Amino acid sequence: MSFPAQPAAGRFAPSPTGPLHLGSLIAALGSYLIARKTGRRWLLRIDDLDRPRVVAGAADGIIRLLEELGFAWDAAPVWQSQRDARYTEALQQLKQEGLVYPCSCTRKDVLASAPHAGEEGPIYPGTCRSGPAGSRQQLAWRLRVAREPISFCDGLNGNWQQNLEDEIGDFVLFRSDGIFAYQLATVVDDLDSGIDQVVRGADLLGSTARQIYLYRLLNQKSPEYTHLPLLLGSDGEKISKRHSEVGIVTAENSSEMMQLALLFLNQPFPAGLAGAPAAEMLNWALLAFDASLLGQEDCGLTALQEKR
Ligand code: GLU
Repeated sequence: MSFPAQPAAGRFAPSPTGPLHLGSLIAALGSYLIARKTGRRWLLRIDDLDRPRVVAGAADGIIRLLEELGFAWDAAPVWQSQRDARYTEALQQLKQEGLVYPCSCTRKDVLASAPHAGEEGPIYPGTCRSGPAGSRQQLAWRLRVAREPISFCDGLNGNWQQNLEDEIGDFVLFRSDGIFAYQLATVVDDLDSGIDQVVRGADLLGSTARQIYLYRLLNQKSPEYTHLPLLLGSDGEKISKRHSEVGIVTAENSSEMMQLALLFLNQPFPAGLAGAPAAEMLNWALLAFDASLLGQEDCGLTALQEKR
């Protein structure tokens, strides 16, 4: 499988399972500012692959709001729901190479492919490695992992290492409900779009080794990674749709939310900008953004270093 050569780019990839909330605004902002500061294009992708979880109209709402907030993307947004052909091609190649196998296990095989910490299934013990163990008709496809540490340097979190066999197990690339798993889709999409810089929330740190493993199997170079700290609610949980109304960004509160997001990223927000339209704050940030205030790691210097 080949991928088109593209100029360097960063991206924001919201899942339209609800409206934009402050946590995702922080991811959008961090990826945007770091991409721009490092001379990259910035792209928008709608992660609407998991159809049962998609909320009708949420994606359009997110796009409209990002536009109002002043974000500018450099190509038409990519919709994962329209990209099954490319995911099929990738899975096909892995099948031909004998790297994946059909799996009849029902036990949380869907959850095992979930992108977020806390939504992971148990470590998969390899039950179906030598053939489907059960008689279920609907099969998932799992990727055989290796017992070797995968290491990477995260721009903010430093050196990370994960042994996929011990910590994850063979993971699902194609779910038994006929949906491609996030892990495969994000890698194929990022390769097709020329994404060489991934900036996102720290809840995806635990998915990164799986993705790097996929890049290797597809003979491609993985992007550089920076995982931003998560905004936590008062209960210590990640702020998300679970917190219903809390933290939802709207046209009405966008100025306040943009200010909060910039402060969260540790930027020296000038008092005089308080109450200004969000787009004006974003323009200020494009000039003033200082990645070093995020507390970058030594091993990640190249990740956040400005291009001269
Ligand atoms: N769609 C994922 C989310 O909303 C992010 C995927 C990614 O950045 O790789 O959490």
